[in-house]
Amino acid sequence: MSKKAIVTGGSRGIGAAIVQKLAQNGFDIAFSYRSQKEKAEEVVRSVSESGQKAYAIETDVTDFESCGNFVSKARELLTDIDVLVNNAGITKDKSLFIMQQQEWNDVINTNLTGYFNVTRHLVGYFFKNKRGCIVNITSVSGLVGIGGQTNYCASKAGIIGFTKALAKEAAKLGIPVNCVAPGYVDTEMTRSIPEKHIDEIKKMIPMNRMGTAQEVADLVAFLTSDSARYITGQVFTIDGGLTA
Ligand code: NAP
Repeated sequence: MSKKAIVTGGSRGIGAAIVQKLAQNGFDIAFSYRSQKEKAEEVVRSVSESGQKAYAIETDVTDFESCGNFVSKARELLTDIDVLVNNAGITKDKSLFIMQQQEWNDVINTNLTGYFNVTRHLVGYFFKNKRGCIVNITSVSGLVGIGGQTNYCASKAGIIGFTKALAKEAAKLGIPVNCVAPGYVDTEMTRSIPEKHIDEIKKMIPMNRMGTAQEVADLVAFLTSDSARYITGQVFTIDGGLTA
């Protein structure tokens, strides 16, 4: 029987690659998207072609009720859930001295509170069944400071604290909770960075290139596999050596 996963922000970028990789590994998947319905439908189509089931559910991760609806719809469609991947995230980069309160709130509410909103609706189910697995996508920006990203770095460092504390709560039930911290990955999120700046970034990366969404998805797939059952509360950096 297929295993079942839910993934937030599965319509594009790293989330879409995670959905596709988990489907290749035999998972049926329900994933959320915020507004890009066509892209979400494309992901559903590509998963169906691989023989697994996928469902795209419109959700705003900043809204607690909307996340409750996402989790209950996912449970209805999949009947069971083995894995949660929290991935939906945004950037609103700006130096702190000109950052608006809204830009701070939007990033914290999506990247950090959004992870609470989804996990809170599912964790009771995992605890009751003494089964489950959680992977939270953070960033190297949660490990080192990056100028212009006070809101993003705070949200991503917060995810690491959230993960470690939840890992302690879940460990006695045999439920692993881990973080994956990518460096620079080629997705729409980084495509807004000017080409000149990207060249400078590549020079700082020992492997001299950005990562791909597939490479991040491969690591997530390992952490959701039975081979990783004894790993919990950890942060796995995947950054071409950037923070080595
Ligand atoms: P992306 O291409 O911009 O995709 C973001 C995804 O999040 C989309 O599916 C989007 O849905 C969804 N989303 C955004 N706000 C949402 C909300 N309020 N409610 C529900 N869904 C929402 O980003 P990405 O590069 O794949 O990033 C994915 C994760 O990896 C993020 O947590 C990001 O911080 C992290 N990360 C990325 C990089 C990088 O270099 N790209 C590096 C380190 C960490 P729609 O398509 O409907 O808008």
